[in-house]
Amino acid sequence: MSTELHRPGVVVVGGGHAGLQVAETLRAEGYDGTVTVVVDDPHPPYQRPPLSKDCLGGEDAAPLPLRGPRFAEEHCIDLRTGVTATGIDRQRRTVHLDTHEEVPYAHLVLATGAANRRLTCPGAELDGVHGLRTLDDAQRLSAAMTAARRVVVIGAGFIGLEFATVARARGLEVTVLEFAPRPMGRAVSPVTGDWFAQAHLASGIDLRLGEGIERCEGAGRVEAVVSTTGDRYPADLVVVGIGVVPSTALAEQAGLETDNGIVVDASLRTSDPAVLAVGDCASFPSVHAGIRSRLESVQNATDQARHAAHTILGRTDDYADLPWFWSRQGPWKLQIAGLYRAGDDTVVRGDLTAGKFSVFCFRQDRLVAVESINRPADHMTARKLIHERVPLTPAQAADPALDLKTVAHAATSAA
Ligand code: FAD
Ligand code: NAP
Repeated sequence: MSTELHRPGVVVVGGGHAGLQVAETLRAEGYDGTVTVVVDDPHPPYQRPPLSKDCLGGEDAAPLPLRGPRFAEEHCIDLRTGVTATGIDRQRRTVHLDTHEEVPYAHLVLATGAANRRLTCPGAELDGVHGLRTLDDAQRLSAAMTAARRVVVIGAGFIGLEFATVARARGLEVTVLEFAPRPMGRAVSPVTGDWFAQAHLASGIDLRLGEGIERCEGAGRVEAVVSTTGDRYPADLVVVGIGVVPSTALAEQAGLETDNGIVVDASLRTSDPAVLAVGDCASFPSVHAGIRSRLESVQNATDQARHAAHTILGRTDDYADLPWFWSRQGPWKLQIAGLYRAGDDTVVRGDLTAGKFSVFCFRQDRLVAVESINRPADHMTARKLIHERVPLTPAQAADPALDLKTVAHAATSAA
């Protein structure tokens, strides 16, 4: 390894779920060049999902590390936290850092993630208006919740609803404003979205659909939110979860192609084959969506990272891993396999009233996605059924007497 370590190796910009996985997979596959990971966040890399869940619960706000404390040392990875990559010189194949260093690369992986979309209405800058993306955000928000009584959440996406259930459990009065006619509209089918709307309302969350934010009011500190209907909601805390924008500035500056993300091909290479992009920041041709997509999930970040490492090591197959997601909202665990698209046909399996069911989504008679609420076994079977393209009709999916696990196993054995 020692002679290789002096040659330009792989530089990864971003040390989130995607960036660290690239480094780990390279080492696991025996890569013996230098591996440098640069991440601007000052903390040792941590997992993001708990930030909107357990980290806000009030007692244990400690972050969950992404890897053990000796990970970098044991894998011979130069992990640079609190350091920002400020530019890329593609001719010379170097990355510039804000420490005034220049790091050479043979391959560069952009795993720069995404940043929260910012609220632009009047009053958005008032004290008491919070976003949630980083550990620092979560710690600030958790502290603010201790003193708060009434919270208004802007956006009924994943952040908004996960936060709303935690806040409700901590005894806060919670109002959620969502532009769209149903929650999580970008991610789930209308059946699932409508079911969650009713469930959250029944749990005491004042979910207002078709209502966006007009302005925040207050003298220095937020006191109320006025919505697009003109209604005024008193609030001592406002949490904004209105989506993200991919972090593409570095790629754009370097002249790489971008279009709602850093554009990559099926092997996850950008318009410059020495530069790859993975995770929240990457726009890739998705075989499951049937169109170019950008996905924001841990599965996508880690699976793309593994694939990019393999591309660097010379593998040439296309990225085609099945997307899957999860969200925990109070007593409900939502698990999604595949990608629902507007217009897909849906059938329900299980008991909507008991809050234990799965929505099977079909496109031209093919199973493309399954959304499971408190039915983890369905989720695991669905991943198999979709991944292996097991033929299944809507009537079969809805039939409670049919054991889907057996169908999945039978198809695998026959293949
Ligand atoms: P990121 O995690 O955003 O990491 C990118 C890193 O690169 C960041 O630290 C960024 O600051 C850094 N960076 C950017 N530019 C530079 C630069 N120029 N120089 C140095 N560093 C740079 N997904 C799920 O599947 N399930 C969940 O339950 C879930 N819960 C979530 C809860 C919260 C609160 C949030 C915010 C996200 C959640 N997600 C969840 C989404 C998931 O965390 C993301 O999809 C995933 O973290 C993306 O990983 P990434 O490595 O692509 O990007
Ligand atoms: P999101 O899931 O995209 O949801 C944002 C929601 O806010 C959308 O429903 C959006 O509607 C709505 N919205 C946008 N502007 C609005 C406005 N002005 N007023 C009211 N509503 C508005 O994004 P997020 O919840 O902010 O989450 C941020 C990131 O964290 C995403 O990458 C997400 O995937 C990730 N995350 C994931 C999980 C999980 O997977 N369990 C959990 C937490 C966070 P439109 O769609 O109509 O714009």
